[in-house]
Amino acid sequence: MEELSLYFHIPYCRNKCIYCDFYSGGVRIADWKRLTMAFLNELNDRKMEWEGKRIVSIYLGGGTPSLMPAEMMSQLLGKVRHLIGDENIMPDCEITLEVNPEDVNDVSVDEWKRGGVNRVSVGVQTFNDKGLKSIGRRHTGESAEIALIQLMSHFSNVSADLIFGLPGQSLEDLNMDIERILKLKPKHISIYSLMYEEGTAITYLRDAGRISPVDDEVATEMFKIIINRLNQAGYNRYEISNYSIAGFESRHNRGYWTGRRYIGIGPSAHSFDGDSKRSSNPADIMGYLNRFAPKESEDTESHYQAAQEELTQMQKIEEMIMLSLRMKEGIDLNQFLRQYGLKEQHNLMKRAQKSIRQGNLICDIEKGRLYLSDSGVLISDSIILDLIP
Ligand code: SF4
Repeated sequence: MEELSLYFHIPYCRNKCIYCDFYSGGVRIADWKRLTMAFLNELNDRKMEWEGKRIVSIYLGGGTPSLMPAEMMSQLLGKVRHLIGDENIMPDCEITLEVNPEDVNDVSVDEWKRGGVNRVSVGVQTFNDKGLKSIGRRHTGESAEIALIQLMSHFSNVSADLIFGLPGQSLEDLNMDIERILKLKPKHISIYSLMYEEGTAITYLRDAGRISPVDDEVATEMFKIIINRLNQAGYNRYEISNYSIAGFESRHNRGYWTGRRYIGIGPSAHSFDGDSKRSSNPADIMGYLNRFAPKESEDTESHYQAAQEELTQMQKIEEMIMLSLRMKEGIDLNQFLRQYGLKEQHNLMKRAQKSIRQGNLICDIEKGRLYLSDSGVLISDSIILDLIP
């Protein structure tokens, strides 16, 4: 039976973090009951996409899913199970909830657990209070630590999200963040480099000369420190920005990198059919609610329509290279051959020669794998650019 992942986008936040380009609205406009109804109606409307498949992971992301009253979150999960049928959900299905530290308390933790959540991903970002304030986060380093400790006493699978390369962050600051998280020993750590995405407040501030990004050499040094220190502490870097204790890799995110089918529910959520069709819901909360949970008094005519895209063979090759190379095991050359044929595999290997000669890419003929070496990981973007047709 084909494996499938489900994603729910909870589109509300307390305030906008200055680096964030995820779609979300202010929590003051949240109508949780209506959102739950809309999720279930969308899931039901898309029955053809999930019927007969085996759900291996469910991910509640956003936005800030932990803002949803915990009891409603556990009811939502119960209703999703009921709709899909327990027999279509793997007994060990990974159910991840993204959590902000300020939402963690005795009641919420119990409810999330009761609802079936078995993995939590906590947005720590940094333990440095000044750094947290400068990017618009509302928690403190201490409250993040308390939240992590509480969550780890209830869940065996806890992930902490950190960001490096924050404006003004020094190597010493980064080392302090790393040592503090290693002391807590979560099973999984994601450490992303700060990105200056178009349209975000942080990009505006940079362009206006009001903040200075860390320079490239410092960012590379930071990346090296992270890789070495986490490796030393027993964490396996299974993806460019993701590290885990063996057996605690994110099953959901692995699906994105390996081309598993997924269905994204909620405003702005993306879906993929596991082959060549991608679709995305419009980033429009009201349009979404009007389409999937209309109020009786409202005009129910809705123009809310997911955008569809059919990937060409070249786009599929490009995606496979970009996504596979993010993972430690890299590109499966036998799968590449089966999917795209000898000529394309030959072209890929031709493009890979320079990086192989420089020691940035490794081709393991026996295992049929092409993957980034330790030096290649530090310049993965340029290697990937060289490899795509
Ligand atoms: S980073 Fe998370 S909490 Fe902050 S605005 Fe984005 S989605 Fe909301």
